[in-house]
Amino acid sequence: MLAAVLAGPNDLRLEQLEVKDPGPGELLVKVGADTICGTDLRILRGEKTSGVRAGAVLGHEIAGHVEAAGAGLEGWDPGQPVAIAPVVPCGNCWECKHGMENMCSGNRIIGYEINGGMAERMLIPADAVARGNVFKAAVDLPSEQLALAEPLSCVVNGQRRSDVRAGSNVLIMGAGPIGLFHLQLARLAGADAVIVSEPADIRRAHAERFGATATVDPTSGDLDAAVLDATGGIGVDAAIVCIGIPPLINQAINLTRPGGTINIFAGLKDKGWAEVEGNRIHYKELVVTGTSNSRRADYAIALRMIEAGRIDTAAMVTHRFPLESVVEAIETVTSREAIKVAVLPGAPAA
Ligand SMILES: [Zn+2]
Ligand SMILES: [Zn+2]
Repeated sequence: MLAAVLAGPNDLRLEQLEVKDPGPGELLVKVGADTICGTDLRILRGEKTSGVRAGAVLGHEIAGHVEAAGAGLEGWDPGQPVAIAPVVPCGNCWECKHGMENMCSGNRIIGYEINGGMAERMLIPADAVARGNVFKAAVDLPSEQLALAEPLSCVVNGQRRSDVRAGSNVLIMGAGPIGLFHLQLARLAGADAVIVSEPADIRRAHAERFGATATVDPTSGDLDAAVLDATGGIGVDAAIVCIGIPPLINQAINLTRPGGTINIFAGLKDKGWAEVEGNRIHYKELVVTGTSNSRRADYAIALRMIEAGRIDTAAMVTHRFPLESVVEAIETVTSREAIKVAVLPGAPAA
């Protein structure tokens, strides 16, 4: 079978790998789609190396169908649609034992260490199956939509930490796939104003389609004025920074109402040094929080929302590539024209 193997930084190779029969407790999955996120690009370019094994198959946003189940597994019939949560927590560390498996210090991640979804087939290790990382999809939606349960699960986690609720005024900075999922969830939660800041036209158009009450191009428009206008000069209840640009953190602090919440959702480059006006946090009693990854429970919630049609996943996928064009697919993530890019390993080469 064909697979995209990361030999090293900037060295992604299409290789023929042997398809192995699943051993005891293992599942063999025929990959339907692997959607791509910025982390894949950072791994490809060698900007992210921790937890990444040289020689691993890339891809961590995965859905497909069961092809074969190893000895000892019951109820995994061939053809069963599945979506796969990529983080396999150790179960034993302090974080795992305190309900924070998303920050597990001993985790193994599919697509970083364990062979991922940019391949025609993937073998899910027995411990990942046993821990519930493989979710049976109740509805056989296109795999590219089910695969989005992974990024959506992170947003489910982030939205909870942002304390968005009915009547909230929300600022979302960055309308890539993550910002657009935050927008959809905020609308579902009953948010009042949702202001989206985003320089790319296509992304602002998507934000409008998903119910943003105002969109601003921060390179030409006045975001501060838009936020103050929408909130009677008070500021938003929750600001969610969905793009890793350090100065945005202070802008978010300035645009949040007294007692409001700022969520640094996006990871920042290097250590993420940012200059913030600490007295604003002090005098306004602001809550500054972060979000990292998701729990399997968040994944279950995200998948359920997609299955139930409460989240528009169809409109999120704008570009599709066969596995043969995987490097082009990953590079497309940087394009201002793309929202979500999917690699479809079953699709014939164009
Ligand atoms: Zn991702
Ligand atoms: Zn752990």
